[in-house]
Amino acid sequence: MQNKPVTPAIQKAHAAHLGALPLDDTRDFEDADRGFLAALAPGVVHAADGRTVWDNDSYAFLEGEAPETVHPSLWRQSQLVARQGLYEVVAGIYQVRGLDLSNITFVEGDTGLIVIDPLISTETAAAALTLYREHRGERDVVAVIYSHSHIDHFGGVFGVTSVEDVEAGKVQVIAPEGFVEHAVAENVYAGPAMGRRAGYMYGAVLARGPQGQVGAGLGQTTSSGEVGMIVPTLEVTTTGETHTVDGVEIEFQMAPGTEAPSEMHFYFPKYRALCMAENATHTLHNLLTLRGALVRDPHVWSTYLTEAIDTFGDRSDVAFASHHWPTWTSDRVVEYLSTQRDLYAYLHDQTLRLLNQGYQGAEIAELIELPPALENAWSTHGYYGSVSHNVKAIYQRYMGWFDGNPTRLWPHPPAEQATRYVDALGGIDRVVELAQAAFDSGDFRWAATLLDHAIFTDESHRPARELLADTLEQLGYGAENGTWRNFFLSGATELREGNFGTPTATSAPAIVAQLTPEQLFDAIAISVNGPKAWDLDISINLVLTDLDAAYRLTLRNGVLIHRKAEADPNAAATITTTKPRLLGVMAGDTSSPGLDITGDAGALTALLGMLDQGDPNFDIVTP
Ligand SMILES: [Zn+2]
Repeated sequence: MQNKPVTPAIQKAHAAHLGALPLDDTRDFEDADRGFLAALAPGVVHAADGRTVWDNDSYAFLEGEAPETVHPSLWRQSQLVARQGLYEVVAGIYQVRGLDLSNITFVEGDTGLIVIDPLISTETAAAALTLYREHRGERDVVAVIYSHSHIDHFGGVFGVTSVEDVEAGKVQVIAPEGFVEHAVAENVYAGPAMGRRAGYMYGAVLARGPQGQVGAGLGQTTSSGEVGMIVPTLEVTTTGETHTVDGVEIEFQMAPGTEAPSEMHFYFPKYRALCMAENATHTLHNLLTLRGALVRDPHVWSTYLTEAIDTFGDRSDVAFASHHWPTWTSDRVVEYLSTQRDLYAYLHDQTLRLLNQGYQGAEIAELIELPPALENAWSTHGYYGSVSHNVKAIYQRYMGWFDGNPTRLWPHPPAEQATRYVDALGGIDRVVELAQAAFDSGDFRWAATLLDHAIFTDESHRPARELLADTLEQLGYGAENGTWRNFFLSGATELREGNFGTPTATSAPAIVAQLTPEQLFDAIAISVNGPKAWDLDISINLVLTDLDAAYRLTLRNGVLIHRKAEADPNAAATITTTKPRLLGVMAGDTSSPGLDITGDAGALTALLGMLDQGDPNFDIVTP
């Protein structure tokens, strides 16, 4: 890597931040260390084949004062997040933190162990359970609770239990209503695009260090082991619902449509402990994650936080979540949850107020300032979400991509616009000159805009490429947000070294296997190449014997439609098979047994021939 040193403009900005940050408030360090029992040594987790799936020791450089190439606030957050080990939350509840992007929590029951949120990978979850048992003794896992439908909260479930034990009734799996549907949908429909962008967001290919990846704000990064899923045996549907698991009473609060579409908070009266899932963490969270997602609803989010405060606040000696460190004593729990609530409510309400005065997202993002009391709380800082991109997301949620100005209704797409800008400015060399002047004056945002036009006109122009890489790097050095830093530095890396593709794939076979037939048909429909298929008119009956269900699939006008219905006698073919075998067909296996076709076998071949795969290497920072 040709890393460049920090420029005076970023040095100056960091110095100004240092003057404004609430550095006297060091309670987070006490809370992050409280209850420490033991660390995993070394802090590295391997897969069965020896591959490293987690290496927390690579963050050992996060010591002392912030280097000039890292925002001092992000440096502090990374120091907190990179702490690793087994911690006592209260006697009877333990967390392993720093062994994945998320935390795993162990609640001791009368005889066994309730596991909350088993991380992303089988290997990291198993390592965490072993660490727990070394210090707390052998206890069988009797239940797993998924707090919500994101993969860092269920993917490692095979590390703590097995399908056999769940099917034998030895282990209960508890999740909020709609869990499977949302867990699957998020990882499959837009999976390839989100996966490619997640590589930018978490900085998976970046070298770790003061000039590279220092963390992701929410956790240090994502693990890269085996991902699985076990379908819940109990879905929680109603706020106020209580269940007693292994002698431990649990009181549930539904919080759908918040940080995840399917999410819940829950309270343990015996331990006076409240689990806030991922709705109250020590960061401003994402209303729109930069890898791409549907925009979340900050209004509903804040409403559920108020309900949690009113329902559990004065009964809670501790609140913990599946990221970051807990908060102790009822007073501080209420204050912390209230601050988080105010943060999301403020961004929502003020964005609406300003958009109703005619401002658009990019303008509101610059206008909005947090109230001083919120600015002075560390937990409101944008290490994962940011005020800037969250405000634009709120605008998007209510108003969409169009800001209402007709001159912006039909602009040229980026490459077409770029050549015209570059021409108007006097050619690409002149654009680079102007960008250099902007760079030298510290206006990296304008330099990036100019150079974006240059690269989208001629991506092989070396001076433009090098200066854009240097520009994105300075923006990375200046970012308080961990994912912004990763995005900027990933862009710089691709400009210098070429496309790094998708470093970690998300759609694991165990998750794809949980698709309902309808979701599977939707996934197939999404991959139909429209123009290639628009002259075809194919009708196929599909009988899934394992589910005792019959469907009609029709491809017409480039659209694949499915309906649950008995066989159409006029269909070209009838396929009788099982869902697992159908998944095999989608993966390209049409010859193994278990696939019975009557009628025209060519109909299936024709349909399969129309399907496009996503491109894991699509370009982002170049045209
Ligand atoms: Zn999470």
